[in-house]
Amino acid sequence: NNKKPTVVYKKPIDFTKIDAKLLPTVMILGRPNVGKSALYNRLIRRREALVYNTPDDHVTRDIREGIAKLADLRFNVLDSAGIETEVSSGTILGRTTSMTANVLARTQFAVLIIDVRAGLHPLDLEVGKWLRKHAPQIKPIVVMNKSESIGDSLAEVASEALALGFGEPTAISAETGLGMNALYEVLHPLLEDYMVQTLNDRCTQDDVTSEENLSDEDDSKLPLQLAIVGRPNVGKSTLLNALLEEERVLVGPEAGLTRDAVRVQFEFQGRTVYMVDTAGWLERTERDKGPASLSIMQSRKSLMRAHIVALVLDAEEIIKGQRSMTHSEVVIARRAVEEGRGLVVIVNKMDCLRGKKNSEMYKKIKEAVPIEVQTVIPQITGIPVVFISALEGRGRLQVMNEVIGTYKRWCSRLSTGRLNRWLIKVMSRHSWKDSASQPKIKFFTQVKARPPTFVAFLTGKTQLLESDIRFLTKSLKDDFDLGGTPIRIIQRSVL
Ligand code: GDP
Ligand code: GDP
Repeated sequence: NNKKPTVVYKKPIDFTKIDAKLLPTVMILGRPNVGKSALYNRLIRRREALVYNTPDDHVTRDIREGIAKLADLRFNVLDSAGIETEVSSGTILGRTTSMTANVLARTQFAVLIIDVRAGLHPLDLEVGKWLRKHAPQIKPIVVMNKSESIGDSLAEVASEALALGFGEPTAISAETGLGMNALYEVLHPLLEDYMVQTLNDRCTQDDVTSEENLSDEDDSKLPLQLAIVGRPNVGKSTLLNALLEEERVLVGPEAGLTRDAVRVQFEFQGRTVYMVDTAGWLERTERDKGPASLSIMQSRKSLMRAHIVALVLDAEEIIKGQRSMTHSEVVIARRAVEEGRGLVVIVNKMDCLRGKKNSEMYKKIKEAVPIEVQTVIPQITGIPVVFISALEGRGRLQVMNEVIGTYKRWCSRLSTGRLNRWLIKVMSRHSWKDSASQPKIKFFTQVKARPPTFVAFLTGKTQLLESDIRFLTKSLKDDFDLGGTPIRIIQRSVL
């Protein structure tokens, strides 16, 4: 058996041994003439830089990109003239060009340069504003360049620079190399945290997405990655704490630096469970500042990493809105299913429906929600729905039982013999319009688990219609107990 053991990366990280594709990316920002190119050249040691010409809105702009070496630290560094143009030509708050969006999407860190000789310049503030608008998740490191001969006024400019709102600046001189060690001290811990996270994420992603061949190994014994997702205030953090059975401080010291909290580990009935979501906590710190897209991005990322997605709904909101799921909840659930994750729906705050006058409502919710959930997410059947009160710690066991049950089903492996005996029965069970419309499946086999994926070999030129796939999917779910997990059926023709 050649299954890789799960590696957990820890500090210290040797950046010199890391594949360039995985290194973090740092963008150099600043108004014209502050010394962006000078710093860029120093960081890449004037090695030949890659130059991309990105046509954008009829203007060709350059992004220089290279690998920075700062002592034993390595990262991708971007020096973007295009962004400078965008900032200084006053279009800052107007629009993001597609190129900028592209660059920002693959940038995790930024160095914002000011010219210490000029002091804080109004355009520096514009650059800061621009970054806040377009990439609020990036908190730049402010550096005061050209500080080799500035003397006393350094402290003065440093205090001016606080107005940017990005913390204490670091004094450097790109031309002489002064302050490079200080820059290292600031960058190194941030990049190292990022690197640990990235390497560990990649590990679990490989776990999730790599093609797995059938084996006798029981995957359901492997650690379970659980993402708790949902709209703000539905009670995700409360549930999480209930599951952990102890209060924890989960929010990092700074907004955007909550990466450390991404994975919380606990044991449940001898099984290791990783919680792989901070969307809720991130939302909390970013709620007032950041765009909604941030939490959506974040939850997309956690969906990719999760095996099982627990979508939390709020019973009070259901009553107010008279429907089980809002649009955004449906979107998240469907996305989880499309990504091949198992799904469990949790209806929280059931304690609000206690008491005589609510008993009708209580009953109604319990009956209606599972039906409605199933109606809006027809892609998978048998989605477990659990009713809980996270605040009172009720339903913890039920949640975990459904999560683990769904995980086991998601890991199911059915033997080919069993499947083909089943196929004969199931094909005769269905009444087809006529024999011509009946698909001619010669052979049916499971090629992969997590989620269960099957191949139907069809004779001749026949094809499975969508209704055939629905029928087979539902039959598989009913006959083999595969509720809450996506089931994939691939068709191949055999002549
Ligand atoms: P950019 O427009 O931000 O890319 O700025 P450049 O890197 O082209 O630098 C603008 C000017 O500042 C050039 O004349 C550089 O020689 C000068 N410069 C850059 N860094 C330093 C520095 O650390 N000290 C001094 N004295 N001049 C610098
Ligand atoms: P999150 O934004 O989804 O993480 O939600 P929180 O866990 O922060 O909860 C939002 C609010 O709902 C808080 O005031 C919680 O105390 C409250 N809350 C959470 N779970 C329950 C519950 O089961 N019942 C009631 N009545 N309130 C709850």
